[in-house]
Amino acid sequence: MVNLLDFDLEGLAEWCAALGEKRFRAVQLFRSIHQRGMADFAAMSDLARSLRGKLAACAHVRGLPLLSEHVSADGTIKWLFDVGGGNAVETVFIPEADRGTLCVSSQAGCAVGCRFCSTGHQGFSRNLSTGEIVAQLWFAEHRLRQRQGCRERQIDNVVMMGMGEPLQNYAALVPALRTMLDDHGYGLSRRRVTVSTSGVVPMIDRLRQDCPVALAVSLHAPDDALRDQLVPLNRKYPIEELLAACQRYLSAAPRDFITFEYCMLDGVNDTPGHAQALVELLKGRVACKLNLIPFNPFPASGLRRSPRERVLSFSNVLLRNGIVTTIRKTRGDDIDAACGQLAGEVQDRTRVGERMARLRDAIPIVAMGGVP
Ligand code: SF4
Repeated sequence: MVNLLDFDLEGLAEWCAALGEKRFRAVQLFRSIHQRGMADFAAMSDLARSLRGKLAACAHVRGLPLLSEHVSADGTIKWLFDVGGGNAVETVFIPEADRGTLCVSSQAGCAVGCRFCSTGHQGFSRNLSTGEIVAQLWFAEHRLRQRQGCRERQIDNVVMMGMGEPLQNYAALVPALRTMLDDHGYGLSRRRVTVSTSGVVPMIDRLRQDCPVALAVSLHAPDDALRDQLVPLNRKYPIEELLAACQRYLSAAPRDFITFEYCMLDGVNDTPGHAQALVELLKGRVACKLNLIPFNPFPASGLRRSPRERVLSFSNVLLRNGIVTTIRKTRGDDIDAACGQLAGEVQDRTRVGERMARLRDAIPIVAMGGVP
């Protein structure tokens, strides 16, 4: 059985052509799946009966089995999905006054192993397929509409900042991005789809050519010696190469700046000296915005969150030097949905089945089952 969530529109049109169906049928099907959240071919009444029969015989629209849904006091929602083999991934919806943002995972676990990241501490399990990446948005969008009892779009911003390094799962990522952007799919603006990377330089260049969406880069240090320790991928693609790739990316980017993420770690990368070094590194070099992220501590990291005053004085050094800087507000703290806390339940993969079973028993599960 073919999972139709695995296709962007071009892929679906090719697949339909092999069934002897015209492109406009593929468009109808794509719209039914993504815009209307449908999975049952029999209910797609705008499709010819003969096509519905063909589809039922060889294809399905299969979302991810939902393990849990947690709703935070601030409205943030975290979903945990089973991706098989004892692995799970998390997806987080962050409501704001003027928009709804979905944070999507691209891998089960992550091979990069950043020191401050809970996912990174678990190691890598596997890449998600295109269908598994898209399924997170498909589920969330239609689930939210259902909750609100409305048909209007609920998610207008997607950030590939969940579990995994998206640019190390490039082949699956790009069709997923195209489905998000497609007017027959989710119709999101390129400016409102962000790929966040720890700095996979060759793939930044490929993304620029294939599907230039907004780019966020996890920087976290102003020099190679420190970044080598915090983001091990820096040993392969050091800061100079990374910044050069960012400059090249700007020629095609939908925004005229790159966002640099900087996780504030007490006594590690948060002194006025680090801030000044960051200014010297970036000023006049790459049009950018700095996003300072309060670290979300977890026991295995051995790291602490920088005190608020230090984050503010760090930010002031950058602002005084003309670098646009924001301090990220933490959201969903009470449900471990904040940045760097997306550990899923893959932390100890040998025991994940047991952990999931405990989780099912221990938390208020609002819904089970993969389709909205
Ligand atoms: S911060 Fe991103 S790239 Fe680094 S380990 Fe975590 S998920 Fe992987």
